[in-house]
Amino acid sequence: MQRWKTFTYHPCAYGPPNKRLISVSTIFQKIISGDIPSDILHQDESCIVIRDIEPQAPVHFLVIPKKVIPRVGDADYEDQQILGHLLLIAGKIAKQEALSAGFRVVINHGQNGGETVPHLHVHVLGGRQMKWPPG
Ligand code: 5GP
Repeated sequence: MQRWKTFTYHPCAYGPPNKRLISVSTIFQKIISGDIPSDILHQDESCIVIRDIEPQAPVHFLVIPKKVIPRVGDADYEDQQILGHLLLIAGKIAKQEALSAGFRVVINHGQNGGETVPHLHVHVLGGRQMKWPPG
C-alpha cells in the first residue's frame, strides 16, 4: 500500500526547501542523499546517473532527477528543463560508456509499464543487440 506524507526536499538534493505532497522516500531518494551507496557515473545539480543494480544488458545505467517526480506522466510544464536534461545526460553518458554502436532509452510508467520504483528514471541499455517489440 502506498503511503503519503508532506515531504521537505533535502536542500542538497533540490535547492531551497519546498513542501509538497509526495510518496514516502524511495530507494532513489536514499541514493541521492547518499544514505545508500551506488556506482555513480555522473552527478550534477539536477540529476544523478548510477549503474543499475540488476543490469539487463552489458551496460545499464539510470538517469534520475534529484527532484521527486514520481513518473513521467506526473511531470508538468515546470519540469520541461529537467526532462530535457535527463535525455541530454543520457546521451552524454552513453558516449562516455562507449555505446557508439547504439543503445536503448526506456522510461517505465505505472504497473503495465513495468515501473517498480515510483521516482522518475531513464534507463539506458547498451552493449548488445536490442530486440523489438520489447517484452
Ligand atoms: P523500474 O522497474 O522502476 O523502471 O526500474 C527500477 C530500476 O531500479 C530496476 O532496473 C532496478 O534494478 C533498479 N534498482 C532498484 N533498486 C536499486 C538500488 O538499490 N540500486 C541501484 N543501482 N539500482 C536499483
